[in-house]
Amino acid sequence: MPPMSRQPLENRARKRFGQNFLHDAAVIDRIIASVYPKAGQRVVEIGPGQGALTAPLSDSGCTLDVIELDRDLIPALLAAFSLKSGFTLHNADALDFDFSSLLSTTLAVPNRQHQLRVVGNLPYNISTPLIFKLLANSGIIKDMHFMLQREVVERLAASPGNKNWGRLGIMAQYQCKVEHLFDVPPHAFSPQPKVQSAIVRLTPWADSPWPDCNELLLRKLVKAAFAHRRKTLRNNLKEIIDSSRLEALGVNPGARAETLELRQFIEITNAIHDKS
Ligand code: SAM
Repeated sequence: MPPMSRQPLENRARKRFGQNFLHDAAVIDRIIASVYPKAGQRVVEIGPGQGALTAPLSDSGCTLDVIELDRDLIPALLAAFSLKSGFTLHNADALDFDFSSLLSTTLAVPNRQHQLRVVGNLPYNISTPLIFKLLANSGIIKDMHFMLQREVVERLAASPGNKNWGRLGIMAQYQCKVEHLFDVPPHAFSPQPKVQSAIVRLTPWADSPWPDCNELLLRKLVKAAFAHRRKTLRNNLKEIIDSSRLEALGVNPGARAETLELRQFIEITNAIHDKS
């Protein structure tokens, strides 16, 4: 099915909803090929907008729930897709949305784990809080494909020792395999954003490579460790763990947080947890 009619795109786009509509067919095809939706799968699209991704997603025969905040886009979305079987539109804010309400509980799908496939050309203003919300629900998610500012994708996929390594990448990589798939130039959108974009795939670990740890504590530790990027761990973590215990864990208290690997953050978390 072709996307919904989308004349006066520039006039229609609302900045406050982060609306940059995709119009480049090659980019749309590449995203859909990366997602590779199939009949019977449960796909959730965040921010369908004018249907650029919704149309090929729904053509795949998957069960498709879309969550759109802008109520002015709802009539056209309903006109284009409401007759498609398995299509449900939620006029809601994805940040408040209860994703577990979409889980199938039929006998055919008895397992609640890792069911949902989440897709979205995300409004850039909500992308970080939305990713943190979805990471908190990672047990029910099979995978996520997002268009984001390239800078955010670089932070998600960063490695230790890199200036992009920080809270977002560490928490995402603890929960998921992170893949920076490809970049998307501004001219693929209307209106054109001022920044480069990229597609990222986040796949929650079915079998995590990391030791278990208390996630809330990990989050607190990482937040404190990166609170002042130029300060040492000794300074940033002084309220949480003292230098001698860091040394006992093989961590140099004079180092900066961006040099630490995820495994070391987990080891520190477990050392604090054992004590508390
Ligand atoms: N998917 C369309 C495309 O690729 O052309 C539109 C993408 S546009 C970057 C972001 C979409 O998310 C818009 O349709 C916008 O109205 C919607 N949106 C913005 N904030 C939202 C929120 N909090 N919850 C759900 N949708 C939101």
